[in-house]
Amino acid sequence: MSFLRLTDVTKFYGSTRAVSAMNLSVEKGEFVSLLGPSGCGKTTTLQMIAGFEAVSSGRIELAGKDITNAKANTRGLGIVFQSYALFPHMTVADNVSFGLEMRKMPKAERADRVKQALALVHLEAHATRYPRELSGGQRQRVALARALVIEPPVLLLDEPLSNLDAKLREEMQFELRQIQRKVGTTTVMVTHDQSEAMSISDRVVVMEGGCATQIDHPHRVYEHPSTRFISTFVGKANLLNGRVATCSTGSCNVEVGPLAVQVDEDGFKAGAAVLLSVRPEKLQLVTAGRGRLDGTVQERFFLGSQWLYRIATPAGDLMVLSPNDGRDALDEGNAVGVDWPAHCTRLLPAEEAVAA
Ligand code: ATP
Repeated sequence: MSFLRLTDVTKFYGSTRAVSAMNLSVEKGEFVSLLGPSGCGKTTTLQMIAGFEAVSSGRIELAGKDITNAKANTRGLGIVFQSYALFPHMTVADNVSFGLEMRKMPKAERADRVKQALALVHLEAHATRYPRELSGGQRQRVALARALVIEPPVLLLDEPLSNLDAKLREEMQFELRQIQRKVGTTTVMVTHDQSEAMSISDRVVVMEGGCATQIDHPHRVYEHPSTRFISTFVGKANLLNGRVATCSTGSCNVEVGPLAVQVDEDGFKAGAAVLLSVRPEKLQLVTAGRGRLDGTVQERFFLGSQWLYRIATPAGDLMVLSPNDGRDALDEGNAVGVDWPAHCTRLLPAEEAVAA
């Protein structure tokens, strides 16, 4: 049985439906991220799990117990906000100790637990400092220690790294994952940063307009996005308009401009309008005449470890990411061939092809 379960959880603010029939099962020890653009309902979902917002309908269970209407302070969950919300007049140790004091834990035991929590986030040496004397990353770690010290059944993180600069953010992603693995706390994190969700989580819940449109392992979401939106929100994708010529079990033939492409997918009707999706890094540039399509280099961008090319082809423009192997890059105006392995193409449904 799953540890945290949301069943048909819906939230209305007046007539605005912020979250729509959300179903989610989180296993014990799992790290799940709610990922989506601004306004898709991530924070509202987290707030309902925390008990800060009442659900309009649906059910929330924790360890088999119905907590749908339980008060926030009785749920005992650990929460880290984007702003850290540390008490400025308290030292690091006192901030971390606060939740234990509220629980009336004896002083000696409290001191032990605070020490352990600060060791976990590598801040033992900063116990007597005040929040203003810490860097952003250190404050973030204090907030994490404060949430974990109470040994919550579930840790809720609301954009916990968004106030950090890019480099520190990457370091903290790694550290957050390591700490979570070590303590094994079931964790639900809200983020709008797809690379953060992909690199940290066991599973990702992609949300669009209040609905969870895909719940899967990061690799599956990337390789098999279930909607057009996900194919471009999680990573980048070339989307080409096509039409299904024939489709049988495990394979469809699709016409894309002058091209006939075989795709290892099924479930589409012959004649259906579709979008063919290929990731830029799955495309290979070859000698003109040797690939699936011929084209011309329109633009090139140097990204350090890779070159990004825009290639004009009869099937439409394609963005191609090529590893920088240290040799000269292709020039604008060069004729090239474009190829890709058959298993790297995805088909997206007809109504989305129309929307494109
Ligand atoms: P962000 O990444 O910008 O924080 P989000 O995905 O977390 O966005 P929510 O904050 O959950 O989105 O908001 C979902 C929807 O509910 C939005 O349309 C928002 O305007 C609306 N909403 C959120 N809080 C309230 C509120 N207190 N009253 C009315 N509407 C609200």
